[in-house]
Amino acid sequence: MSILEMGKVVLKNLFNKPVTERYPFVKKEYPSGARGKVNIDPAKCIYCGICQRKCPTAAIVTTKEPKVWTIDRMRCISCNACVEVCPKKCLVLDVMYSPCSAKQGTDSFRP
Ligand code: SF4
Ligand code: SF4
Repeated sequence: MSILEMGKVVLKNLFNKPVTERYPFVKKEYPSGARGKVNIDPAKCIYCGICQRKCPTAAIVTTKEPKVWTIDRMRCISCNACVEVCPKKCLVLDVMYSPCSAKQGTDSFRP
């Protein structure tokens, strides 16, 4: 690349908007239909275990006594199978992803 060509590139980049975004100051908008994390409304759940049986990665564990619905987020592949089979429609696949943290592994919900 000649000095002249390089100069053009430098000038162009000096006056154009940056292609990168200033995260976390500028939050990313997730596109609609993006597959993020599974959320549950524990008040509607009847702890039938259908979602657990349909989950291809064994990410969900439910128990009737005590009533606990648990998801291992590191195993979940956001396939939506649990959301589709839930008879009480208490699961949703949120567009947001789980934040990275040491606590990210498993989330438990009770009524
Ligand atoms: S299928 Fe729905 S109602 Fe049944 S345990 Fe799963 S979340 Fe609860
Ligand atoms: S979205 Fe798929 S992988 Fe994730 S918990 Fe539901 S069934 Fe399992």
